[in-house]
Amino acid sequence: MLKQFDSPKVHLEQYVTEGDLAATPIWEANNFDWISGKTIVDLGAGTGILGIGCLLMGAKRVVFVEKDPDAVKILEQNIELTTADYEISTDLDIITSDIHKPGIFEEKFDLVLMNPPFGTRDCGADLAFLELAFKLSDRIITFHKTSTEKKIEETAKKHSFIPFRTWKFKFPLKNTMEGHKKKIELIDVTCWLLEKKQ
Ligand code: SAH
Repeated sequence: MLKQFDSPKVHLEQYVTEGDLAATPIWEANNFDWISGKTIVDLGAGTGILGIGCLLMGAKRVVFVEKDPDAVKILEQNIELTTADYEISTDLDIITSDIHKPGIFEEKFDLVLMNPPFGTRDCGADLAFLELAFKLSDRIITFHKTSTEKKIEETAKKHSFIPFRTWKFKFPLKNTMEGHKKKIELIDVTCWLLEKKQ
């Protein structure tokens, strides 16, 4: 069982993707040959569930990028827990930085995988993550609020990316942050597999 945020930060929109919601796109994308043997970057990695899922699927290289050092500490523990239990030969890197800091990416990747901030508190953060993803890879797996569906697909189209597959989830946001009144709030989230038209 992976560790979660100790005290999630509201302004960074920190929440953990539940295991089963992470597993569906990772498993299916691997069936399309998007993961095993590939180089992958997990943007806004948080406690690491998405990138760690790729380690377990036999990715060649996984780079985790997260700007919050407290989250990175938990991410490191989660990687240790995983590598203690499974034989992993993936080349790993953790970059503790804002994803938008110039010069942090010196390579392109086979895949960008991300569940970024939804842009609810940090307005525009979702699209800013997406704009970077378009530059880093021709394949993207990304989670966004379903209410932003039209904007996400329009933006993708502008960059010649087409939705290859989508899943709609009820995403449980636990009462982990101040301002959340209900114990668990279910929000509609869509996960896209986006691919650049050649
Ligand atoms: N991907 C993780 C965490 C999702 S929460 C999961 O699926 O469980 C979004 C994460 O993005 C948080 O950990 C937050 O700290 C991080 N984040 C937000 N803005 C960022 C930025 N500009 N650069 C890097 N990380 C950022």
